[in-house]
Amino acid sequence: MPKATFNHKEKPPKLTKESYKKALRVFRYITPYKGLFIVGMIFLTLSSITTMGFPYLLGKLFGTSTADSPSSLMDLTNANAVFVLLFVVFIANAIFSFFRIYLFTNLTENVLRDLRQDSFRILNFSKISFYDKSKVGELSSRIATDINQLQDLLTTTLAEFIRQWITILISILVIASISLKLMGIMLAVVPVVLVMTIVFGKKVKKLSMEAQNAAADSNVILNEALSAIKNVKAFTNELFELTRYREKTNRIKELAMKGAIWRGLFAGFIIIGLFGATTMVIWQGILMVQSGEMNTEQLITFILFTGMLAVSFGGIGTMMGTIQKSIGATERLMDILENEVESIFTAGELTPLQLTGDIVFDNVSFEYETRQDVNVLKGVCFSIQSGQTLAIVGPSGAGKSTITSLLFRFYDPSSGEIRVDGKSLSSYELTALRKEMAIVPQEVQMFAGTIRENIAYGRPEASFEDIQKAAEQANAMEFIQQFPDGFDSLVGDRGIQLSGGQKQRIAIARALLKNPTILVLDEATSSLDSESEKLVQEALVNLMKNRTSIVIAHRLSTIRNANKIVVLNKGEIVESGTHGELLEVNGLYARLSNTQQEIFA
Ligand code: ATP
Repeated sequence: MPKATFNHKEKPPKLTKESYKKALRVFRYITPYKGLFIVGMIFLTLSSITTMGFPYLLGKLFGTSTADSPSSLMDLTNANAVFVLLFVVFIANAIFSFFRIYLFTNLTENVLRDLRQDSFRILNFSKISFYDKSKVGELSSRIATDINQLQDLLTTTLAEFIRQWITILISILVIASISLKLMGIMLAVVPVVLVMTIVFGKKVKKLSMEAQNAAADSNVILNEALSAIKNVKAFTNELFELTRYREKTNRIKELAMKGAIWRGLFAGFIIIGLFGATTMVIWQGILMVQSGEMNTEQLITFILFTGMLAVSFGGIGTMMGTIQKSIGATERLMDILENEVESIFTAGELTPLQLTGDIVFDNVSFEYETRQDVNVLKGVCFSIQSGQTLAIVGPSGAGKSTITSLLFRFYDPSSGEIRVDGKSLSSYELTALRKEMAIVPQEVQMFAGTIRENIAYGRPEASFEDIQKAAEQANAMEFIQQFPDGFDSLVGDRGIQLSGGQKQRIAIARALLKNPTILVLDEATSSLDSESEKLVQEALVNLMKNRTSIVIAHRLSTIRNANKIVVLNKGEIVESGTHGELLEVNGLYARLSNTQQEIFA
């Protein structure tokens, strides 16, 4: 389960002052829509005030029953007048509420869209080193779950929170204006009951959550055991599984019973506490009415507003949980949004570098940020001239892929320099530099979509003619045409499944379409059948023509034809030369090449 997702098994995140500070920075996403926010707030205030008109006028309505002589419709001692007014208030409230909801949703959806787009932008622009430190599952869940959390906060919780406070404020003002004495009595009992209710509520919630967790745990055992039933039986572990399951299910029962005691106590408390407190306030109120300290209308208004007060306090209690979760979610989102990004070219027309493709690695050393103690490359030196092919061979973990990562500037060397056409890699505009390069990886990534779209990924603006030409040169035309929908065939989960060799040819077509000056080829280790192998090899020959190519080589054929071969071992170049030269030296390469050992891993 990704860490950032907030599931029922996790405790709410611990919030520090920093968390609040960071979360508040989300307001810069609200600022562009402050007009909407202000108008929304006005409607929110209006709808809150009109809501308060309900208990006020209801009190008046009761008051009319004891009024001496109901007079004109303008007079609030006339029941009909109050009734009409109540309807006016309802209608006004309905209109205000409509606009409040509409405006806040509009604000929220704008903010959420911006947040979604910005976080995806930042994630796209982030350095690869960031991905070494984070889990992709966690990141995508942050965008999904944390933004949803924010949606709840902005559309409903925040507005409700403010509304409840307005209600509390007005209620206190009204009841204080009616009778300070009765308010004193009420304040002595109601908050105590309220606090107790919250405490009870929390305890019951915690226990029911624990019971839910125990149920989830027991389900895991059940699922595991049943889906691996052959293993269970082969190891004669039926009783072992049963005991594990028994323990968990007993625990569920135990927790449920504990919960029942608390729920029972809670119910008893509500009956005695809440009803008792209410009765006490009413009883005291009636005594005050009898002694002439207030009239019935005032008492009823007092009780109604006290009810509003209690409901609002209760509401705020539950909302605090949501707000805390949202702050945690916002903090995590802000972490992404404040990520260090690469200088990706976004504005205007990019001037092509038109490189010739001379590459020099000058004493390059490197270690990954996440494993600084391991020197992955140690003083690597080599050069390739434009149009030539350099093969890198070496055992697994020698640092071959790292060399290509440095060439793409996914990382920068910790010392030494990489030069292309005589200039340091870092002196080029990053996007322009990467436009001059293409990679055919070992594991070809297919995107959901058609074959045509998958090839066009090399150059999205390419014409269909260019795509067809690339497919032809990549030896992919024949198999593409065999699919009923040809280039429009869907690939991936909901479409056709391509074989390893076919995927590689799509990747070659993709690279051909990009038409790079520098090509990086990470040969696939998994062997293809000889027919497929031949087609891929031919396609590669087409692709490598007139380009500088760096090949992480696993096949003798590539190595034989390379202009230069470097043998990498534990981050160091141990030998270099042509196939013939290296054989002559009769060193490690020759030995390994003759015995076809793991050097070509
Ligand atoms: P293979 O043939 O198995 O792909 P390779 O020669 O291409 O191996 P690299 O992938 O360059 O080797 O890895 C060189 C060393 O760097 C290894 O020890 C590897 O564990 C480490 N390494 C590779 N990528 C990272 C990374 N992103 N973060 C930390 N260490 C890494």
